[in-house]
Amino acid sequence: MSFSNILGQERARASLSAALSRGQLHHAYLFGGPEGVGKELTARTLAQAANCERDDGEACGKCSACRRIAGRNHPDMIWVLPEAEQIARGWAGRADFSGTPSRDIRIAQIRALQERLSFRPLEARTRFIFICGAEAMNPQAQNALLKTLEEPPPATVLILISAAPNQLLPTIRSRCLKLDFLPLDVALVAQKLVADKKADPDLARLCAALSFGSLGAAMALDMKALEKRRERLEGLTRLDAGDVSDALAFAEEIAAEKGAAPTAIALFETWYRDVALIASLDQFGAPALPNAERLLLHGDMRPLLESSAIRIGAVEPLRRIDLCRGVRARLRFNASPRLQLEQLFLRFIRSEA
Ligand SMILES: [Zn+2]
Repeated sequence: MSFSNILGQERARASLSAALSRGQLHHAYLFGGPEGVGKELTARTLAQAANCERDDGEACGKCSACRRIAGRNHPDMIWVLPEAEQIARGWAGRADFSGTPSRDIRIAQIRALQERLSFRPLEARTRFIFICGAEAMNPQAQNALLKTLEEPPPATVLILISAAPNQLLPTIRSRCLKLDFLPLDVALVAQKLVADKKADPDLARLCAALSFGSLGAAMALDMKALEKRRERLEGLTRLDAGDVSDALAFAEEIAAEKGAAPTAIALFETWYRDVALIASLDQFGAPALPNAERLLLHGDMRPLLESSAIRIGAVEPLRRIDLCRGVRARLRFNASPRLQLEQLFLRFIRSEA
Protein backbone atom coordinates (compact mmCIF):
# COMPACT_ATOMS: atom_id res chain seq x y z
CA MET A 1 0.00 0.00 0.00
CA SER A 2 1.75 3.16 -1.14
CA PHE A 3 0.76 6.73 -0.34
CA SER A 4 -0.81 7.06 -3.75
CA ASN A 5 -3.26 4.27 -2.93
CA ILE A 6 -4.78 6.26 -0.09
CA LEU A 7 -8.09 7.82 -1.08
CA GLY A 8 -8.13 11.64 -0.92
CA GLN A 9 -6.23 13.43 1.90
CA GLU A 10 -3.77 14.95 -0.57
CA ARG A 11 -2.55 17.63 1.83
CA ALA A 12 -1.78 15.28 4.71
CA ARG A 13 -0.09 12.81 2.35
CA ALA A 14 2.01 15.49 0.64
CA SER A 15 3.12 16.95 3.95
CA LEU A 16 4.17 13.57 5.37
CA SER A 17 5.81 12.42 2.18
CA ALA A 18 7.88 15.63 1.98
CA ALA A 19 8.93 15.44 5.65
CA LEU A 20 9.95 11.82 5.17
CA SER A 21 12.07 12.49 2.09
CA ARG A 22 13.84 15.38 3.86
CA GLY A 23 14.43 13.11 6.86
CA GLN A 24 12.49 15.57 9.01
CA LEU A 25 9.53 13.73 10.43
CA HIS A 26 8.12 15.46 13.48
CA HIS A 27 8.42 13.44 16.70
CA ALA A 28 4.67 13.62 17.40
CA TYR A 29 1.66 14.01 15.12
CA LEU A 30 -2.03 14.43 15.83
CA PHE A 31 -4.15 13.06 12.98
CA GLY A 32 -7.62 14.57 13.46
CA GLY A 33 -10.76 14.00 11.40
CA PRO A 34 -13.95 11.92 11.14
CA GLU A 35 -13.99 8.15 11.44
CA GLY A 36 -13.31 6.14 8.32
CA VAL A 37 -11.46 8.71 6.19
CA GLY A 38 -7.99 7.14 6.23
CA LYS A 39 -6.21 8.38 9.36
CA GLU A 40 -5.01 4.98 10.52
CA LEU A 41 -4.21 3.80 7.03
CA THR A 42 -2.07 6.88 6.45
CA ALA A 43 -0.28 6.38 9.78
CA ARG A 44 0.51 2.77 8.94
CA THR A 45 1.63 3.63 5.43
CA LEU A 46 3.96 6.28 6.81
CA ALA A 47 5.50 3.71 9.18
CA GLN A 48 5.98 1.33 6.25
CA ALA A 49 7.50 4.00 4.02
CA ALA A 50 9.92 5.02 6.78
CA ASN A 51 11.07 1.43 7.25
CA CYS A 52 10.64 -0.15 3.81
CA GLU A 53 13.64 -2.17 2.69
CA ARG A 54 13.62 -0.34 -0.64
CA ASP A 55 14.12 2.94 1.22
CA ASP A 56 12.77 5.11 -1.61
CA GLY A 57 10.24 7.14 0.38
CA GLU A 58 7.35 4.85 -0.48
CA ALA A 59 5.89 1.69 1.04
CA CYS A 60 6.43 -1.26 -1.30
CA GLY A 61 3.98 -3.39 0.67
CA LYS A 62 5.93 -6.55 -0.19
CA CYS A 63 9.18 -6.53 1.83
CA SER A 64 9.40 -8.10 5.25
CA ALA A 65 9.20 -4.77 7.10
CA CYS A 66 6.14 -3.59 5.14
CA ARG A 67 4.36 -6.89 5.59
CA ARG A 68 5.08 -7.18 9.31
CA ILE A 69 3.89 -3.62 9.91
CA ALA A 70 0.64 -4.35 8.06
CA GLY A 71 0.22 -7.59 10.03
CA ARG A 72 0.96 -5.83 13.34
CA ASN A 73 3.80 -8.18 14.17
CA HIS A 74 6.75 -5.84 13.81
CA PRO A 75 8.50 -5.55 17.20
CA ASP A 76 9.05 -1.79 16.94
CA MET A 77 5.53 -0.77 16.00
CA ILE A 78 3.31 -0.27 19.03
CA TRP A 79 -0.45 0.14 19.00
CA VAL A 80 -2.16 1.67 22.03
CA LEU A 81 -5.95 1.56 22.19
CA PRO A 82 -8.73 0.95 24.73
CA GLU A 83 -9.24 -2.69 25.74
CA ALA A 84 -12.87 -2.59 24.55
CA GLU A 85 -11.68 -1.39 21.14
CA GLN A 86 -9.06 -4.17 20.93
CA ILE A 87 -11.85 -6.70 21.48
CA ALA A 88 -14.17 -4.97 18.98
CA ARG A 89 -11.43 -5.24 16.34
CA GLY A 90 -10.74 -8.87 17.14
CA TRP A 91 -7.17 -8.02 18.17
CA ALA A 92 -7.76 -9.43 21.66
CA GLY A 93 -10.31 -11.58 23.47
CA ARG A 94 -12.22 -10.87 26.67
CA ALA A 95 -10.04 -13.39 28.49
CA ASP A 96 -6.99 -11.22 27.81
CA PHE A 97 -8.16 -8.68 30.37
CA SER A 98 -9.13 -8.98 33.99
CA GLY A 99 -12.47 -7.35 34.79
CA THR A 100 -14.67 -5.38 32.42
CA PRO A 101 -12.69 -4.25 29.35
CA SER A 102 -12.00 -0.55 29.65
CA ARG A 103 -13.24 2.04 27.15
CA ASP A 104 -10.51 4.40 28.32
CA ILE A 105 -6.82 4.34 27.55
CA ARG A 106 -5.51 4.13 31.11
CA ILE A 107 -2.33 5.36 32.75
CA ALA A 108 -1.07 1.77 33.12
CA GLN A 109 -1.06 1.45 29.31
CA ILE A 110 0.94 4.67 28.94
CA ARG A 111 3.42 3.51 31.62
CA ALA A 112 3.85 0.18 29.83
CA LEU A 113 4.49 2.08 26.61
CA GLN A 114 7.10 4.26 28.31
CA GLU A 115 8.81 1.16 29.67
CA ARG A 116 9.17 -0.14 26.12
CA LEU A 117 10.36 3.23 24.85
CA SER A 118 13.19 3.23 27.38
CA PHE A 119 14.88 0.63 25.15
CA ARG A 120 16.24 1.35 21.69
CA PRO A 121 14.30 0.09 18.67
CA LEU A 122 15.23 -3.51 17.87
CA GLU A 123 15.52 -3.18 14.12
CA ALA A 124 13.42 -0.31 12.78
CA ARG A 125 15.04 2.78 11.30
CA THR A 126 12.16 4.67 12.84
CA ARG A 127 9.92 3.26 15.54
CA PHE A 128 6.21 4.20 15.44
CA ILE A 129 3.65 4.46 18.20
CA PHE A 130 -0.01 4.59 17.16
CA ILE A 131 -2.41 5.85 19.81
CA CYS A 132 -5.80 5.07 18.29
CA GLY A 133 -8.84 6.88 19.64
CA ALA A 134 -6.39 9.17 21.47
CA GLU A 135 -9.25 11.14 23.02
CA ALA A 136 -10.02 7.99 25.03
CA MET A 137 -6.90 8.63 27.13
CA ASN A 138 -8.18 9.71 30.53
CA PRO A 139 -6.59 12.85 32.02
CA GLN A 140 -4.06 10.88 34.09
CA ALA A 141 -2.97 8.96 31.00
CA GLN A 142 -2.62 12.20 29.04
CA ASN A 143 -0.56 13.79 31.78
CA ALA A 144 1.70 10.74 31.87
CA LEU A 145 2.14 10.92 28.08
CA LEU A 146 3.22 14.57 28.30
CA LYS A 147 6.60 13.48 29.63
CA THR A 148 7.21 11.42 26.48
CA LEU A 149 6.14 14.29 24.25
CA GLU A 150 8.47 16.67 26.05
CA GLU A 151 11.47 14.34 25.96
CA PRO A 152 10.89 12.31 22.82
CA PRO A 153 12.90 9.08 22.59
CA PRO A 154 15.33 8.90 19.64
CA ALA A 155 14.24 7.50 16.26
CA THR A 156 10.62 7.37 17.38
CA VAL A 157 7.46 8.95 15.97
CA LEU A 158 4.24 9.10 17.97
CA ILE A 159 0.98 9.38 16.06
CA LEU A 160 -2.12 10.29 18.02
CA ILE A 161 -5.21 9.40 15.98
CA SER A 162 -8.50 10.98 16.95
CA ALA A 163 -11.99 11.71 15.65
CA ALA A 164 -12.40 14.24 18.48
CA PRO A 165 -8.99 15.94 18.79
CA ASN A 166 -10.45 18.90 20.68
CA GLN A 167 -11.21 16.61 23.59
CA LEU A 168 -7.48 16.21 24.22
CA LEU A 169 -5.78 18.45 26.78
CA PRO A 170 -4.38 21.65 25.23
CA THR A 171 -0.94 20.70 26.59
CA ILE A 172 -1.03 17.49 24.52
CA ARG A 173 -2.32 19.21 21.38
CA SER A 174 0.28 21.95 21.51
CA ARG A 175 3.12 19.40 21.54
CA CYS A 176 1.92 17.59 18.42
CA LEU A 177 1.95 18.65 14.80
CA LYS A 178 -1.71 18.53 13.79
CA LEU A 179 -2.78 17.21 10.41
CA ASP A 180 -6.44 17.49 9.43
CA PHE A 181 -8.15 14.64 7.62
CA LEU A 182 -11.26 15.76 5.75
CA PRO A 183 -14.43 13.92 4.76
CA LEU A 184 -13.86 12.29 1.38
CA ASP A 185 -15.48 13.34 -1.88
CA VAL A 186 -18.70 11.37 -2.32
CA ALA A 187 -17.83 10.45 -5.92
CA LEU A 188 -14.47 9.00 -4.77
CA VAL A 189 -16.16 6.86 -2.12
CA ALA A 190 -18.70 5.63 -4.67
CA GLN A 191 -15.95 4.64 -7.13
CA LYS A 192 -14.17 2.74 -4.41
CA LEU A 193 -17.36 0.84 -3.49
CA VAL A 194 -17.86 -0.13 -7.12
CA ALA A 195 -14.23 -1.25 -7.43
CA ASP A 196 -13.92 -3.13 -4.13
CA LYS A 197 -17.42 -4.41 -3.42
CA LYS A 198 -18.59 -4.76 -7.03
CA ALA A 199 -21.51 -2.57 -5.98
CA ASP A 200 -24.11 -1.39 -8.45
CA PRO A 201 -23.07 2.22 -9.36
CA ASP A 202 -26.40 3.80 -8.36
CA LEU A 203 -26.44 1.96 -5.05
CA ALA A 204 -22.78 2.90 -4.49
CA ARG A 205 -23.54 6.60 -5.05
CA LEU A 206 -26.39 6.42 -2.57
CA CYS A 207 -24.23 4.58 -0.02
CA ALA A 208 -21.48 7.17 -0.36
CA ALA A 209 -23.94 10.02 0.10
CA LEU A 210 -25.44 8.35 3.16
CA SER A 211 -21.98 8.06 4.72
CA PHE A 212 -21.11 11.75 4.49
CA GLY A 213 -17.62 11.15 3.07
CA SER A 214 -16.53 8.34 5.35
CA LEU A 215 -15.27 5.32 3.42
CA GLY A 216 -15.32 3.26 6.63
CA ALA A 217 -18.99 4.07 7.20
CA ALA A 218 -19.84 3.38 3.55
CA MET A 219 -18.13 -0.01 3.70
CA ALA A 220 -20.07 -0.83 6.88
CA LEU A 221 -23.48 0.22 5.51
CA ASP A 222 -25.96 -2.51 4.98
CA MET A 223 -26.33 -2.62 1.19
CA LYS A 224 -29.10 -5.17 1.58
CA ALA A 225 -31.13 -2.65 3.57
CA LEU A 226 -30.69 -0.14 0.76
CA GLU A 227 -32.03 -2.57 -1.78
CA LYS A 228 -35.39 -1.84 -0.16
CA ARG A 229 -34.91 1.80 -1.07
CA ARG A 230 -37.83 2.10 -3.47
CA GLU A 231 -40.23 0.31 -1.15
CA ARG A 232 -39.16 2.46 1.82
CA LEU A 233 -39.42 5.72 -0.09
CA GLU A 234 -42.84 4.86 -1.45
CA GLY A 235 -43.92 4.10 2.11
CA LEU A 236 -42.52 7.45 3.20
CA THR A 237 -44.39 9.46 0.58
CA ARG A 238 -47.64 7.67 1.44
CA LEU A 239 -47.41 9.30 4.89
CA ASP A 240 -48.30 12.60 3.28
CA ALA A 241 -51.87 11.34 2.92
CA GLY A 242 -52.03 11.95 6.68
CA ASP A 243 -53.24 8.53 7.81
CA VAL A 244 -52.08 8.02 11.43
CA SER A 245 -52.58 4.26 11.51
CA ASP A 246 -50.59 3.93 8.28
CA ALA A 247 -47.77 5.96 9.86
CA LEU A 248 -47.69 3.75 12.96
CA ALA A 249 -47.68 0.60 10.84
CA PHE A 250 -44.77 1.92 8.75
CA ALA A 251 -42.80 2.68 11.95
CA GLU A 252 -43.47 -0.83 13.21
CA GLU A 253 -42.44 -2.40 9.92
CA ILE A 254 -39.02 -0.67 9.93
CA ALA A 255 -38.42 -1.19 13.66
CA ALA A 256 -39.13 -4.91 13.27
CA GLU A 257 -35.89 -5.28 11.31
CA LYS A 258 -33.03 -5.21 13.74
CA GLY A 259 -30.66 -2.30 13.13
CA ALA A 260 -32.61 -1.04 10.09
CA ALA A 261 -33.83 2.25 11.58
CA PRO A 262 -30.65 4.39 11.27
CA THR A 263 -30.07 3.38 7.63
CA ALA A 264 -33.74 4.00 6.80
CA ILE A 265 -33.68 7.43 8.42
CA ALA A 266 -30.44 8.39 6.65
CA LEU A 267 -32.18 7.32 3.43
CA PHE A 268 -35.16 9.58 4.24
CA GLU A 269 -32.77 12.52 4.68
CA THR A 270 -31.40 12.02 1.16
CA TRP A 271 -34.96 11.81 -0.16
CA TYR A 272 -36.00 15.12 1.40
CA ARG A 273 -32.79 16.68 0.14
CA ASP A 274 -33.85 15.69 -3.39
CA VAL A 275 -37.44 16.91 -2.81
CA ALA A 276 -36.12 20.30 -1.65
CA LEU A 277 -33.92 20.48 -4.74
CA ILE A 278 -36.79 19.67 -7.12
CA ALA A 279 -39.12 22.13 -5.37
CA SER A 280 -36.51 24.89 -5.73
CA LEU A 281 -36.11 24.04 -9.41
CA ASP A 282 -39.85 24.42 -9.91
CA GLN A 283 -39.75 27.73 -8.11
CA PHE A 284 -36.71 29.32 -9.72
CA GLY A 285 -36.48 27.46 -13.01
CA ALA A 286 -33.85 24.98 -14.14
CA PRO A 287 -31.22 27.57 -15.21
CA ALA A 288 -30.91 28.66 -11.57
CA LEU A 289 -29.39 25.30 -10.75
CA PRO A 290 -27.33 23.94 -13.61
CA ASN A 291 -26.39 20.30 -13.19
CA ALA A 292 -29.30 19.81 -10.80
CA GLU A 293 -30.19 16.58 -12.55
CA ARG A 294 -26.83 15.09 -11.75
CA LEU A 295 -27.17 16.15 -8.12
CA LEU A 296 -30.29 14.06 -7.59
CA LEU A 297 -29.63 10.85 -5.69
CA HIS A 298 -33.00 9.40 -6.55
CA GLY A 299 -33.24 10.64 -10.11
CA ASP A 300 -34.73 7.30 -11.19
CA MET A 301 -37.76 8.09 -9.00
CA ARG A 302 -38.34 11.50 -10.53
CA PRO A 303 -42.17 11.32 -10.83
CA LEU A 304 -42.53 10.55 -7.13
CA LEU A 305 -40.04 13.31 -6.26
CA GLU A 306 -42.07 15.77 -8.34
CA SER A 307 -45.36 14.90 -6.67
CA SER A 308 -43.75 15.18 -3.23
CA ALA A 309 -42.28 18.55 -4.16
CA ILE A 310 -45.69 19.83 -5.28
CA ARG A 311 -47.28 18.56 -2.09
CA ILE A 312 -44.78 19.75 0.56
CA GLY A 313 -42.77 22.51 -1.16
CA ALA A 314 -39.13 23.49 -0.60
CA VAL A 315 -39.08 24.42 3.08
CA GLU A 316 -40.89 21.51 4.73
CA PRO A 317 -38.28 18.96 3.52
CA LEU A 318 -35.60 20.90 5.39
CA ARG A 319 -37.64 20.77 8.59
CA ARG A 320 -37.96 17.02 8.12
CA ILE A 321 -34.24 16.57 7.55
CA ASP A 322 -33.63 18.30 10.89
CA LEU A 323 -36.14 16.02 12.60
CA CYS A 324 -34.44 12.97 11.04
CA ARG A 325 -31.02 14.07 12.27
CA GLY A 326 -32.33 14.50 15.79
CA VAL A 327 -33.79 10.99 15.76
CA ARG A 328 -30.59 9.45 14.43
CA ALA A 329 -28.63 11.12 17.23
CA ARG A 330 -31.06 9.73 19.83
CA LEU A 331 -30.86 6.24 18.35
CA ARG A 332 -27.11 6.19 19.02
CA PHE A 333 -28.01 6.34 22.72
CA ASN A 334 -30.23 3.28 22.63
CA ALA A 335 -33.56 5.05 22.24
CA SER A 336 -36.35 2.71 21.12
CA PRO A 337 -36.38 2.68 17.30
CA ARG A 338 -40.12 2.07 17.16
CA LEU A 339 -41.07 4.95 19.46
CA GLN A 340 -38.64 7.29 17.73
CA LEU A 341 -39.96 6.39 14.28
CA GLU A 342 -43.58 6.77 15.41
CA GLN A 343 -42.91 10.24 16.79
CA LEU A 344 -40.97 11.19 13.68
CA PHE A 345 -43.74 10.15 11.28
CA LEU A 346 -46.45 11.81 13.37
CA ARG A 347 -44.50 15.04 13.28
CA PHE A 348 -44.29 14.72 9.49
CA ILE A 349 -48.06 14.34 9.32
CA ARG A 350 -48.90 17.14 11.75
CA SER A 351 -47.10 19.72 9.68
CA GLU A 352 -49.63 18.98 6.93
CA ALA A 353 -52.56 20.05 9.07
ZN1 LIG B 1 8.59 -2.39 1.74
